[in-house]
Amino acid sequence: MTQDDLITIPARHGKAATLKAGQSLRLINTHGTQVVDCWAWRQDDLSEFMSMEATRVWNQRLNPDFGDTFVTNHRNPILTIVEDTSPGVHDSFMAACDRRRYERLGVTEYHRNCFDNMIEAVRELGYEIPHPTLASLNVFMNIAVMPDLRSLDTRPTVTKPGDYITFRAEMDCIVAFSACPQDIVPIQGMEDNIPRDAHFCVLDDGFPDVPGTSTWTPDTK
Ligand SMILES: [Zn+2]
Repeated sequence: MTQDDLITIPARHGKAATLKAGQSLRLINTHGTQVVDCWAWRQDDLSEFMSMEATRVWNQRLNPDFGDTFVTNHRNPILTIVEDTSPGVHDSFMAACDRRRYERLGVTEYHRNCFDNMIEAVRELGYEIPHPTLASLNVFMNIAVMPDLRSLDTRPTVTKPGDYITFRAEMDCIVAFSACPQDIVPIQGMEDNIPRDAHFCVLDDGFPDVPGTSTWTPDTK
């Protein structure tokens, strides 16, 4: 991999890519401060998409960890985390930001947002998403679960410049990213809360040493 192979997710914008099963995609937090929202769809049927709620059942975990597999609304594996050099703080709870979220935050003009970025990015590849969802995987986003085990606290990222996470495709799929334009709620790091570029590259390495997860089933002894 060289610098030339890197694809930019411009600050406040989206970018999508297609992956063949067994390829991987390394997402780099270039400046170490950026939250990147992520969605994925089955390439030959965009009504099947990566599901945060089905993934929480699959892994029995609040938020994804190294080695975890993400599944679709049809409970099929779609992505697995095969590398993560960041502190491993990612969020699967928070809805992606959209136009209405910024209106509720008091913004009176159009504010770029992850939801529109996702639609634009996939459209650039020539696809139209039939039922776009706010339920994104929010990579590098720091949403802490509080000691009462039910309240959440929205905090800035804890990543360093150059930290990366790598996802292996478990099926032919489309993956979309948005370098989150959020500049009102303090979620981006470095205290200035300014959205910045992130980058990714596609790898032919399938990381066979990381098997991924099978669905959780209850102990029935
Ligand atoms: Zn956003």
